[in-house]
Amino acid sequence: MDFIISILIIPQKSLLKINMVKKIEHIGIAVSSIEKSLPVYEALLGVKSYKVEVVESEFVKTAFIQIGESKIELLEATNPESTIAKFLDKRGQGFHHIAFDVDNIKVEIDRLKEIGFELIHLSPKSGADNKIIAFLHPKSTEGLLIELCQDK
Ligand code: ZN
Repeated sequence: MDFIISILIIPQKSLLKINMVKKIEHIGIAVSSIEKSLPVYEALLGVKSYKVEVVESEFVKTAFIQIGESKIELLEATNPESTIAKFLDKRGQGFHHIAFDVDNIKVEIDRLKEIGFELIHLSPKSGADNKIIAFLHPKSTEGLLIELCQDK
């Protein structure tokens, strides 16, 4: 009997190891002005932002709000060449991307590339909120901009 139980448990453990996306880390929302939008989100959620951070390399200013295990990231362009500025011109304010927390971003990038996903970043780069990140192109994800992130 003990023998049968151990056979059933081992495959489940190895399945968990293969599944490297741990959870939704945050939802990214493009806004014209963090100064204007942040108080709206803080009032809506009843929580203050724990961090406002500029990511110079991406020409974005970000603000993070934690709600339980979930986070909201507001993104404002700091330069007209920013991808956020282009997104706002085309689509206006609102949902921008979903970010998944992964155990090992390099392994996950290679795995996704190998099965045919198009990645915007083929190697991880420094992102906001102490993460290393990589984006997948919406062309290969049914139109959704997806960010992978891992704690630094
Ligand atoms: Zn993000």
